[in-house]
Amino acid sequence: MTEKTEINVLGCGSSFGVPLSHDIWGNCDKSNPKNQRTRPSILLKKAGKSILIDTSPDLRKQLIDNKIDNIDSVIYTHSHADHIHGINDLRAISLINKKKIPIYSDDITLNILKKSFSYLFVKDENHGYEPILIANTINSKFIEINGFKIEIIKQNHGNIDSYGFIFDNKIAYNLDIKFFYDENYLDKIKGIKCWFVGCLRYDEHPSHASYKEVIDWTHKVNANKTFLSHMTAHIDYDTEYKKLSVGNVFPAYDGLKLEI
Ligand SMILES: [Zn+2]
Ligand SMILES: [Zn+2]
Repeated sequence: MTEKTEINVLGCGSSFGVPLSHDIWGNCDKSNPKNQRTRPSILLKKAGKSILIDTSPDLRKQLIDNKIDNIDSVIYTHSHADHIHGINDLRAISLINKKKIPIYSDDITLNILKKSFSYLFVKDENHGYEPILIANTINSKFIEINGFKIEIIKQNHGNIDSYGFIFDNKIAYNLDIKFFYDENYLDKIKGIKCWFVGCLRYDEHPSHASYKEVIDWTHKVNANKTFLSHMTAHIDYDTEYKKLSVGNVFPAYDGLKLEI
């Protein structure tokens, strides 16, 4: 029997989170806790080893809320602030567990991380902190991390590229995306066990697919379970649940846990 993967959605909001600062809830029903969304991140765990996708600016709160005290590795989708700015919170995890944490990304994101958060990678005379991260560049289409076989999917995200991942051929994660460069991608993941896909808002956006495009994709892929993530305050949990759950498509929510 193949090992089960535990999935823990830490954050499924977009860059502003829900509510936005100044308590702005948009279309979201404030009384539903599933509408409270921190910035995007997810943790996968298999055979006792975990991999974190992105370090959201809300990482500290996410670790507390989900009782996570250890992370074995981190993989990055791209360098936008809503995906990297919690990287400093890895210091606590490193210090508690007395180990350096390997991180994985393409060289563009890695260079930005090293420039913005140099003290996490090298000891510098101003800071004096011991480095806590081990940098690894992803430069192939497949990579194995902590027993996860990961396929790397380059995707368009407006002016930049971002990366999606397929874990062990059963969990796909494609969040910040305008379109897939591989026109056969939706066929490739057709019928996959679990798909997390970015669904920002109803209107068009220069670097994200629109709601309509994303829902069309979910019909084509017809995953056992599809979860919408990276949602703004335009997207209300119950409204979408009522529309989509009959087709096994669900809005994600912070703290969602499942086993695949
Ligand atoms: Zn982005
Ligand atoms: Zn984002």
